[in-house]
Amino acid sequence: MKFQSFFVKPAVPTSLKPLYDLAYNTWSTWDNSANTLFSRIDPSLFREVHHNPVEFLYRLGADRLAGLAKDPGFLFELEQVWYKFVSYQSFEGTYSHEGQEIPFGPRSTIAYLCMEFSLHESLPIYSGGLGILAGDYLKAASDIGLPLLGFGLLYRYGYFSQRINQDAFQEEEYRENIWFFKPITEVLDKDGQPLIIEVPIQKTKAAVKVWQIGVGRTKLYLLDTNLPQNEPRVRAITDMLYDSNRDDRIEQELILGRGSRIAMRALGIEPSVYHLNEGHSAFLILERLKQLMLEDKLPFGEAANLIRNTTVFTTHTPVIEGNEHFDKSLVSRYIKADLEQIGINATDFFAMGAVQPNEPVFWLPALAMRFSRFCNGVSKIHAEVSRKMWQPLFPKHHFDEIPIDSITNGVHVPTWLSIHLEYLFDRYIGPDYQHHCEAADVWDKIDGIPDSEIWEAHRRSKNELISFLRRRLHRELERKGFSASKLSEVEDILTADALTIGFARRMAPYKRADLILQDPERLKKILTNKTKPVQLILSGKSHPADVAGKQILKNIIDFIQDNKLQHRMVFVEDYDMDVARHLVQGVDVWLNNPLKPLEASGTSGMKAGINGVLNLSVLDGWWPEAFDGQNGWAVTAGESHSNPEVKRVVEANQIYELLEDEIVPLYFERSESGIPFEWIRRMKHAMVTVGNGFNMHRMLREYLYKFYLPEMETSAELFADDLALLKEISAMQTEVDKWWPKVYIKDVFPSFLDQPTTVGQEVSLDCYVYLDNAPDSLFGVEAVHLSGRNIDQLGTSALSFVEKYPDNVAKFSGSFVLHRPGQHKLGVRIRPNNPLFRETYPEYIKWAE
Ligand SMILES: *Cc1c(COP(=O)(O)O)cnc(C)c1O
Repeated sequence: MKFQSFFVKPAVPTSLKPLYDLAYNTWSTWDNSANTLFSRIDPSLFREVHHNPVEFLYRLGADRLAGLAKDPGFLFELEQVWYKFVSYQSFEGTYSHEGQEIPFGPRSTIAYLCMEFSLHESLPIYSGGLGILAGDYLKAASDIGLPLLGFGLLYRYGYFSQRINQDAFQEEEYRENIWFFKPITEVLDKDGQPLIIEVPIQKTKAAVKVWQIGVGRTKLYLLDTNLPQNEPRVRAITDMLYDSNRDDRIEQELILGRGSRIAMRALGIEPSVYHLNEGHSAFLILERLKQLMLEDKLPFGEAANLIRNTTVFTTHTPVIEGNEHFDKSLVSRYIKADLEQIGINATDFFAMGAVQPNEPVFWLPALAMRFSRFCNGVSKIHAEVSRKMWQPLFPKHHFDEIPIDSITNGVHVPTWLSIHLEYLFDRYIGPDYQHHCEAADVWDKIDGIPDSEIWEAHRRSKNELISFLRRRLHRELERKGFSASKLSEVEDILTADALTIGFARRMAPYKRADLILQDPERLKKILTNKTKPVQLILSGKSHPADVAGKQILKNIIDFIQDNKLQHRMVFVEDYDMDVARHLVQGVDVWLNNPLKPLEASGTSGMKAGINGVLNLSVLDGWWPEAFDGQNGWAVTAGESHSNPEVKRVVEANQIYELLEDEIVPLYFERSESGIPFEWIRRMKHAMVTVGNGFNMHRMLREYLYKFYLPEMETSAELFADDLALLKEISAMQTEVDKWWPKVYIKDVFPSFLDQPTTVGQEVSLDCYVYLDNAPDSLFGVEAVHLSGRNIDQLGTSALSFVEKYPDNVAKFSGSFVLHRPGQHKLGVRIRPNNPLFRETYPEYIKWAE
């Protein structure tokens, strides 16, 4: 007999209906009052189901539900939370424009695509920082009322759960997600049936189911190929996150990129901006080309123009090999037929994914950059590294003009702030800050919170962290079959009196989790000091294929065991959002020592900072933008060395020295009542500076004002009057192309060449350009001058057209003032004149020889 499985929903008492609606919106996972409401029903069951409100309600049982439905105290609290939710959902967001606050209109939808989204520990479809960022981003969009929709993949097994075996090696366990027990629902089509779209994968069409997750006011759509009508190979496409097999990976990314756009059409969603968060989703561009060219009948030039003006790309990976790429032959196998069908020349298309000419590789980030008007890295350092890395894509640009901007990451405050600090924020700042974290005065008010209350809130979080860790270790040892006496030893590990250092992140080798083990004796001495004890908590997963990362993890665990340091040093299995939240709220110092410049941004230090945890970090990623000498410590000793081994030694030494001479003494400097006032002053200062600079609302507003609004505006202009402007710009490209190979700068005559110059003087410039028969107004000439000590100040001055001579040479003249002493450089270039054309096609640049 073959059994078929199906699910039966519990009968919900009417008075509890709001509780179910809360469970199905992930708002209730980041709002503390909602969390507390679920938890009070049955704290240990709530923990057991990983704080998943939906599974929790399924597991409660009819009697318990019936009891709650008649419990006046519970119903009172439910009503309060429900009211909070309803008012949260009805918040109307605005943006500033010329001094006015303007509501987000229906034409301001943004589609945000990412390979992973991490909303909550009960939805394990994420691996690390990228997913956390994307999840926080959706939540912040909801907070500020921005109509942004997420698109991603629904992984049947998600990322693995980590187990450490007896030999201290990581083992991976893949657990199937049962969606019925998760806060996720099927999207229904107009007939009330689950929406299924079709995405071409080579010769087949994969049937893809579309799911949705409520994220406050916004939504995350997730695509799933695990359907009975698909053949087994296709069903398995969305099995696992970051599958190492290249065929599996490209298939996932075709589903993500193309499928998202197909799903949008089916859902009637027409975004005005598409944001590709990392290169994995870049096949969206292929699908958009296909739809625009085949269905909307636009020629390639117009379609590409439209896509360019409505796409934003964010890169997160500072090492070139870490960027998503495939053998051209592999990509060709998957999309050749599509290119033929659309009528795009394959050679031309592959050239758009190349970094070096004629290389056998197709880079998804390169494709994304060539089709995005705005690109950015995720911190100032990272943008600089990215400009260097992707320079070959912009051969005509001066380095400083390579269009990769920087928008530094941020974190979603309500998700990461401890409940105890949230109470203080509500009382001293006012609860409305949750919609306005980007306002500086929100954070300045932290100064007004009494020191003792900050310390008390922190102490509570620390105690909760220790209980949490003991519970987890207990479970871990129990599972491994340890004796009862061994289990009871767990009660002795860690103490709230010790200075507690946290280190948790993916165990990728560049993060150097074992740097602190560099001098074992010195570390042991720091940890086991009798009067000023220190303890260290580490956590993190290695990618299954990362042998070096797994070895680092083993080194740490072996070190703890070999030195019998279990009571002072703990490795926590299976790092996830739950572990992260407890750590960043409960430790005193957050350690980060990546090999610079490989940390694109990092966000865990921000989560720690808003909770008053002091960062001790290499000046990489976001930290140089935040560190001011008072809000934590900087590890700088490696800056002047390039050899990674030398860096390792000097940086480890500096960390020990900072701990021994500054951090530990400062922490144990107490008032009579046992309060470390100087430490608390720094905690508050960290909360103010990190909160102010690195909250997710600030980051989202930066994307909004720098990228989204200009693209929305352009997109509205391009679409107006039956695409009149789009057609004009594309026609202009045809015209420009006609003359571009022929035009060149013949001669440049700057005035200073024959006279000495001083600051304040004006340089005038005559320039002769061969224009062939191009219309006078089509091209413009610019002087580009660099000045200053490192000739790092770049200025441009447009020259004016003066006249054209019978030999088709035109004269352009202009001037600029020399503002700074020192070395100067001058270059002259020709570009098309139209500003929108330049924005759309920045590659049209010719310099004077
Ligand atoms: C914040 C977070 C990360 C990212 O941490 P980094 O220090 O930026 O690498 C990774 N995983 C989890 C579970 C997190 O909460």
